[in-house]
Amino acid sequence: MLTGKRSQTRLDAMSTRAQRYDAVVLSRARISPHLLRLTLSVPGLESTGIADEWVGLVVPGQFQVRYYTVRSLDSDHLVIDVVVHEEGLVTGWATGDCDGDRVVITGAQGSFDPPEDAAWLMLVGDLTALPAMARIAETVAGRSSATSGWSGGVETRIWAEVPDDLTGYLPDGVDVTWLEPPAEGQSRLGEVVEGIDWPSGEGYFWMAGESAQMRTIRKYLMRERRLPSTAYDVMGYWRAVAARQPRSVDPGPIWQAGRAAGHSDEQIWAAYDEARGG
Ligand SMILES: Cc1cc2nc3c(=O)[nH]c(=O)nc-3n(C[C@H](O)[C@H](O)[C@H](O)COP(=O)(O)OP(=O)(O)OC[C@H]3O[C@@H](n4cnc5c(N)ncnc54)[C@H](O)[C@@H]3O)c2cc1C
Repeated sequence: MLTGKRSQTRLDAMSTRAQRYDAVVLSRARISPHLLRLTLSVPGLESTGIADEWVGLVVPGQFQVRYYTVRSLDSDHLVIDVVVHEEGLVTGWATGDCDGDRVVITGAQGSFDPPEDAAWLMLVGDLTALPAMARIAETVAGRSSATSGWSGGVETRIWAEVPDDLTGYLPDGVDVTWLEPPAEGQSRLGEVVEGIDWPSGEGYFWMAGESAQMRTIRKYLMRERRLPSTAYDVMGYWRAVAARQPRSVDPGPIWQAGRAAGHSDEQIWAAYDEARGG
């Protein structure tokens, strides 16, 4: 059963360097104009059990790592959904003939950490966040049973700003608002967050998207909404820069070191942004 981190002994599997696994691309399928699904065979890869877990991907002939959400991991079959944007290391490789390619996958890590008794969950993000929002929503649906950590009835709302029609991507019954980006590379997610009618009681807010925008939203949640840092997790998944990312930094070790030092999510993700060059 997938969970948040709070219920895990999360320091046990900590290492500062993620483990690396040899992998082979088994298939590639187009889900929508901007989303490709890759299925890989990754012997030895294990799930952390954390709903938004991600892995690093190193494509052939490269050293730089890019990070992708584990959409599913069944035995050694890993599925990731890759956003195709204008130009990029993985974008270029995944849109080419990558079937059968040998790649490297780094060990899974996750940060979704809702309170055990959360009564509501708000998930907001762009297309890069959609795989994680889908997996989190599936987890919540799976928890609506007598044996789960949550007692069920967790009110879950999703706002997804995506350029394609992805009806059917999220599990049935989820309360989802589909938003179209105002223009290529632009987003109204900041306005969406400011317009949220927050439910009462204890809950959890999770969000991912472009880094600079996520920094602004973190500040809003902390300063205006005055949410305790344990009530939200806002992650910069990609940086809008003029060219290919100059530096790719593994969020896992920064997360782990920050947690071990007792830092809040806010401090940890700010440190991650800084490590990537602001
Ligand atoms: C924890 C985590 C989980 C993630 N999960 C996913 C996932 O499941 N699916 C997924 O597709 N991405 C995911 N991402 C984001 C992904 O790692 C980045 O988008 C990455 O930069 C893509 O690599 P690239 O080689 O295609 O482009 P890069 O070589 O890194 O960048 C090339 C150019 O493209 C721009 N760019 C990068 N990403 C985007 C984008 N998404 N939209 C528009 N322009 C962009 C950059 O600004 C740069 O100008 C995740 C990131 C993190 C940290």
